[in-house]
Amino acid sequence: MKLTTQSLFEQCYGKYAIAAVNVFTMEQVLGLFSAAHKCQSPFIVQTTPVARNYAHPEMLLSMIDAASRLYPDVVYALHLDHGNEDHALAAIASEQYTSVMIDASHDNFETNVARTKNIVRKAHVKNISVEAELGVLSGVEDDVSIEEKYAKYTNPEDVVKFIEQTECDSLAIAIGTSHGAYKFSGDQGLQFDILKEIQQRLPTFPLVLHGGSAVNDYEIERINRFGGKLNAHAKGVDPFELKESIKYGICKVNIATDTRLIWARVHRTFFNNHPEQFDPIVPGQVYTQAQKDFLIKKFELLGSIDKIRDFK
Ligand SMILES: [Zn+2]
Repeated sequence: MKLTTQSLFEQCYGKYAIAAVNVFTMEQVLGLFSAAHKCQSPFIVQTTPVARNYAHPEMLLSMIDAASRLYPDVVYALHLDHGNEDHALAAIASEQYTSVMIDASHDNFETNVARTKNIVRKAHVKNISVEAELGVLSGVEDDVSIEEKYAKYTNPEDVVKFIEQTECDSLAIAIGTSHGAYKFSGDQGLQFDILKEIQQRLPTFPLVLHGGSAVNDYEIERINRFGGKLNAHAKGVDPFELKESIKYGICKVNIATDTRLIWARVHRTFFNNHPEQFDPIVPGQVYTQAQKDFLIKKFELLGSIDKIRDFK
């Protein structure tokens, strides 16, 4: 059952978070829906513009639709991740998405407001909600000054003005995470002082954490053992901190890097251990199961297991 993205946030705020899982392939779609079915967890399935164009948007959306028919009891929302105006408008026009992200975070405040507002106006007509971003998600090096470091994070003083002016429905904030496998160079972790200040100014407003992958050492180690060359010091978000952030309004946690790492680990180990194999179906099944197992643990961490009952 596809529900509005906002209805998921209304139920989970302050209690649990919704995993927003990026999908590119059939195996990822199937692993996600079967994991959600198994543990009766609501979720958000999200597609980047790159994922939409990997084959064709219709291909990806049809796979998601097919999975929802195979698992009719699951509760989910469909979100466009990191769109510009063209992507967001295409997703709104398709009438399949329940929410879109307009990412104008690299613009200055006024331009970000104007671009976000424009999409909000068009989305709300169709009852589609909008996620905006304030602050810049990027790796923060140890050797930058405190001023430089804080310039990248979301400034709590801007958030109320931004929400009022744009009328967006959820806000992605920069509190220390980044995209990719190498999130932290030191032990900075999530900036709870900033998160708490944002939440005090926006109580009950859904906040979004991008770059929420854990980047498990064990996955990196196995990828590298079988020929990979990933940075062995890659580091993700500490699971304890992730759980802790839910109390302060994080409702949506984006997950992409972890599922890519699992894809690389499964295929590298599989072909190393089975050099005689060349059939895509065999490692494909292993990957679907690995994706499913990983997501079950993620739902558990985010506290969303059995929460489908909130929507019945
Ligand atoms: Zn992101």
